[in-house]
Amino acid sequence: MSESVNPQLRPEMAKLPTYKAGKKVDPVNGLTAYKLSSNEIAHSPLPSVVAAIVGAASEINRYPDPFTTGLNQALSTKFSIPVEHIATGTGSVGVCQQIIQAVAGAGDEVIYAWRSFEAYPIITTIAGAVSVQVPLTNDGQHDLAAMLNAITPKTRAIFVCTPNNPTGGIVTQQQINEFLAKVPKDILVVIDEAYVEFNRDQDVIDGIATMKANSNVGVLRTFSKAYGLAGLRVGYFIGPKNVADAVRKTAVPFGVSNIAQVAAVASLEHEQELFKRVDEVVGDRLWFEAELAKLGFKIPPSQANFVWIPMGEHTEEFAKRSEGIAVSIRPFPGEGVRISIGERQALERVIELAKEFVF
Ligand SMILES: *Cc1c(COP(=O)(O)O)cnc(C)c1O
Repeated sequence: MSESVNPQLRPEMAKLPTYKAGKKVDPVNGLTAYKLSSNEIAHSPLPSVVAAIVGAASEINRYPDPFTTGLNQALSTKFSIPVEHIATGTGSVGVCQQIIQAVAGAGDEVIYAWRSFEAYPIITTIAGAVSVQVPLTNDGQHDLAAMLNAITPKTRAIFVCTPNNPTGGIVTQQQINEFLAKVPKDILVVIDEAYVEFNRDQDVIDGIATMKANSNVGVLRTFSKAYGLAGLRVGYFIGPKNVADAVRKTAVPFGVSNIAQVAAVASLEHEQELFKRVDEVVGDRLWFEAELAKLGFKIPPSQANFVWIPMGEHTEEFAKRSEGIAVSIRPFPGEGVRISIGERQALERVIELAKEFVF
């Protein structure tokens, strides 16, 4: 293939980090391999959800409903919010991209905490906008005072991820109220609640109520985590009507498949069954945190389906050694590891390994 002169790309492409998806590992010496690197639910889908998917499979010669009408209606009922305030997309990553493209263009600024969800910088850069990353506090929490200080006339959106990926901590209702009182009303504040179902802290933000009480607040939610539909790509935004309208316009047409739509609706119908699994995950999280604490690890309390272990310079070695026990975890070199609360056997192996990293 000739490569003497290649097509020109937008300058942003050179700056763009590639999204690092959680790795799979190979089985080692007969050990079953486990993936604890993408915050998925380890349970297989509910039979009722599989049945809905199978039912929809015979219609895939047709385009899906581009307005995801049935799903929007189910969400409207669940949250008592008019459908005009709801927009869906291909996973909440897709919705997040739609949001940023709707509000921020070349040179505009998007504020978010760092470290936080890895999709924010990528999506912001693709839109031609500028990331303003505000460091987390030393204990892994959002520094809302610093985020307020980062607001400029160019700020178009602020993301607040709670519980935060990858550190697991929450922002409280009182903190967000104080914050919102000072944010100019023409700036969109998005509360990313991808893990909200795993939260057990009473003080956490109630995203939907906060959205109802503020004209510039939206909530981002997903079916990928607690609802166990990561492979089907469906998420949603609930926010101001004008933003929801725009988010529908920036969507890839027909992005959310009919299979994803019916699976999402079926999952809402069987929420109680799914939330029992979420309770199990929360139980395992508490056990895992307690085991780590017994070993002397100081970890920020997590309200999500993962735990953050600040490993600093030992991060890469820990990740490498975890491959040796056939468990994939998510390393952030030089900072720490994020471990999804998956199969108990995998978590037990990780605890055994962690014993060798007590210094
Ligand atoms: C996993 C995750 C999402 C959701 O991703 P999907 O595209 O819906 O699978 C959104 N926000 C955060 C912070 C996440 O960790």
